[in-house]
Amino acid sequence: MCEKRIAIYGKGGIGKSTTVANLSAALSNEGLKVMVIGCDPKADTTRTLYGMRIPTIINTIKENRNPELEDIVFKGYNGILCTESGGPEPGVGCAGRGVIVAMKQLQKLNAFNEDIDVRFYDVLGDVVCGGFSVPLRKDYADEVYIVSSGEYMSLYAANNISRGIKKLKGQLGGIILNKRNVNNEEEIVNAFAEKIGTKVVGVVERSDLIQDAELDAKTVVEKYPDSDETSIYKKLGKSLIENSDYTIPEPIDDEEFEEFFKLYSKN
Ligand code: ADP
Ligand code: MG
Repeated sequence: MCEKRIAIYGKGGIGKSTTVANLSAALSNEGLKVMVIGCDPKADTTRTLYGMRIPTIINTIKENRNPELEDIVFKGYNGILCTESGGPEPGVGCAGRGVIVAMKQLQKLNAFNEDIDVRFYDVLGDVVCGGFSVPLRKDYADEVYIVSSGEYMSLYAANNISRGIKKLKGQLGGIILNKRNVNNEEEIVNAFAEKIGTKVVGVVERSDLIQDAELDAKTVVEKYPDSDETSIYKKLGKSLIENSDYTIPEPIDDEEFEEFFKLYSKN
């Protein structure tokens, strides 16, 4: 059984995997049992938890149609269970299908029956479509968070993702602001969150330490346990665990989005 099943969405490159890995490390330090399911063909969510890339489910079942659980789920930092769906090579087939196949395989091997306190799905997607909407469906995740900065494209993607969440009647727990240090960043993201009927649940500062740790294939939580960055992820983890306020978002149309963004970025 799993107490909290959380899907994390956001624009490509915005910091989903970094956030998921560091959050997982921070929560595991609090004694929670965590599982991380990477649902991005990039397959790099769990790299900083395991210390290197793990084989993906899609690649593994290409060679062995009947893998064992140990062939697709690996124990990383603090015993965090790590798995990556993987996907087809670029240009070959639909990337989202990889998620569907991977989920079926995990189910077949009872991976979802492990005793886990928090399970994260780290999902690629500027929009929620096809296979990438699977984690959002009720059988997998109960709640969704969107990672965004205050940049135009990132919030534009957040608005699109909200459309998918609304359509699938998903429960949005809030926006995690991963800062890029653009003008008025906190104001813009807070105002956007309010506009679509949600809130900012945490703010992660932009930090070189995070990338320094990433080069070592470690989370900042593991490499720099006493840093401010580690405290930030610990606090964010606490907010997610304690949050019980979810909404079906009310995305805005493109025109309203343009006006909103212009108004706030001028201030
Ligand atoms: P995504 O999973 O959304 O595609 P990643 O988590 O891989 O994005 O992040 C993309 C890059 O941005 C990585 O190199 C990562 O180290 C960096 N990054 C993410 N968050 C931060 C941050 N708060 N400060 C500095 N660098 C960050
Ligand atoms: Mg990623």
